[in-house]
Amino acid sequence: MEYLKKLIRDVPDFPKVGVLFKDITPLLQDAKGLKDSIACIASYVENKKIDIVVGAEARGFILATTVAFSIGTGFVPIRKPGKLPYEKASMTYNLEYGTDTLEIHKDGIKKGQQVLMVDDLLATGGTMNACCKLVESLGGNIVGCAFLIELGFLNGRDILSKYDLFSLIKY
Ligand code: IMP
Repeated sequence: MEYLKKLIRDVPDFPKVGVLFKDITPLLQDAKGLKDSIACIASYVENKKIDIVVGAEARGFILATTVAFSIGTGFVPIRKPGKLPYEKASMTYNLEYGTDTLEIHKDGIKKGQQVLMVDDLLATGGTMNACCKLVESLGGNIVGCAFLIELGFLNGRDILSKYDLFSLIKY
């Protein structure tokens, strides 16, 4: 894990002053870093039955699709408003200041499908919670939520306590 941790770059004051941004691009461009990260997430679901992997834009797409390929399932995107072309379900959730909305294609999840959620980072948990609710609104069962990074001090686990959570690198 130390190897992977060294590939996460801290960028101060991005995207705004006071935020210490965890940049995963050095990990993505490192062959061993990428391979090991995906292998760890794949082993988390080794004994779980997964029908489909879901990830939210934009960094979630990269990891979720790669995990899906690795475990032999398809991938379903969750996107910002106005990006998906077909019939959509929407979920609006609260941010520190204001709200945000995410969308998924209505036919993205079939009733009863076993779903693995993947994102790059767990902070307050608001994004993942909204994604899980979207999937559940279509009848999907959340088998687990996997993250590359967890910012434990933001207590994102609290809001997601009813789900099985896995994170590779914790701060
Ligand atoms: P949350 O909703 O507060 O848990 O924030 C998590 C979402 O914000 C994830 O989709 C991340 O991609 C993004 N995010 C928040 N902070 C960071 C960061 O430091 N690095 C990369 N992504 C971040």
